[in-house]
Amino acid sequence: MTEPLVPRMREFGETIFAEMSALATATGSINLGQGFPDGDGPGAMLDAAVEAIRSGGNQYPPGPGVPELREAVAAQRLERYGLSYDPMSEVYVTVGATEGIAASVLALAGPGDEVIVFEPYYDSYAAVIALAGAVRRPVMLRPVEGRFTFDPDELRAAVGPRTKAVLVNSPHNPAGTVFTRGELEAIAAVCREHDLVAITDEVYEYLTFDDTEHIPLATLDGMRERTVSVSSAGKTFSATGWKTGWVTAPARYVRAVQTVKQFLTYAVSAPYQRAAAYALSNEIAWVAELRKSLQAKRDRLVTGLEAAGFTAYRPQGTYFVQADIRPLGFSDGLELARALPAKAGVVAIPTQVFYDHVEAGAHFVRFAFCKKDEVIDEAVERLRRLA
Ligand code: PMP
Ligand code: GLN
Repeated sequence: MTEPLVPRMREFGETIFAEMSALATATGSINLGQGFPDGDGPGAMLDAAVEAIRSGGNQYPPGPGVPELREAVAAQRLERYGLSYDPMSEVYVTVGATEGIAASVLALAGPGDEVIVFEPYYDSYAAVIALAGAVRRPVMLRPVEGRFTFDPDELRAAVGPRTKAVLVNSPHNPAGTVFTRGELEAIAAVCREHDLVAITDEVYEYLTFDDTEHIPLATLDGMRERTVSVSSAGKTFSATGWKTGWVTAPARYVRAVQTVKQFLTYAVSAPYQRAAAYALSNEIAWVAELRKSLQAKRDRLVTGLEAAGFTAYRPQGTYFVQADIRPLGFSDGLELARALPAKAGVVAIPTQVFYDHVEAGAHFVRFAFCKKDEVIDEAVERLRRLA
């Protein structure tokens, strides 16, 4: 039988998140793989979704999103970052950040164009770049003194005549890095010099720790006009299943994204948009508490992983820890991740699947800490058996 899948998608099997969550379910393991919290978002936000359904808001919403969410997003960008967007022409609601990124890449990069990504990169980037017929150009993030960063020379060297866009994820999944102003300046300089568009993935914009601040790339000199910013409600409000996201960009970019997005899904689930609008406008204090609680969970998991024998990288943002498995005598994270349920009753994500240069990530696995303290403690207890 011939393979029905189009050739450009053949390198992509089932996502690692699906594989590892299924493994967790099948083996009854503690799932520190796929990143989703084991608690709900703010109660009043949940009520707002119920109320939206009960009050008859169940038909197609406007394709660009319900006005109250577009207004709430514009207000949030302005209040938090000083970035001004017109809610009607410069904000567009998408099915999670995933669709926002996909529509942006499909709208802005065509066959043979190149898109720069920082590896390890979130898995959907590679797939949508391939869907667009474009080519990914990875720039490596390497640990330097406990934090993953890139070499600006390597970034400059990655730019060629076909480069169209740079995909920038900060806070970064899976590395846990929050790009500094200096790192963002290096990216901005390359974008300005080579007339590139930046697509930013800011889904962890609120989940930064200690005194680390998330700086949107669009706030840098000359960048608002060439940046398509993407974010979503999933991580901020612990509602990853709601799949409600948004794009903010200059109107001409939003029109480009719209042209693609309207034929992918047309519109986004109406009740969740209303609830997300409510949350953005009323629940930022709740998010501040979430962030505090996640910081403590981060430290709890890092301490536990170190006690279990891993070298753990304390992230500045997101809810993931990179763990080097070599001190425990392992060298292949994919092998270990597949064996971990049997060995320890825990599931992790092998970081190597997010690399083109697999060897650079082979010895890392990623653990999520957006879980109840007792779940983290039990996972750590089990991981201690590995030593
Ligand atoms: N980007 C990154 C870096 C992520 O970790 C995730 C997972 N939440 C997404 C995008 C997808 O976000 P959403 O669920 O809003 O589509
Ligand atoms: N963003 C989540 C993570 O990195 C997974 C989302 C998904 O399952 N696609 O764990």
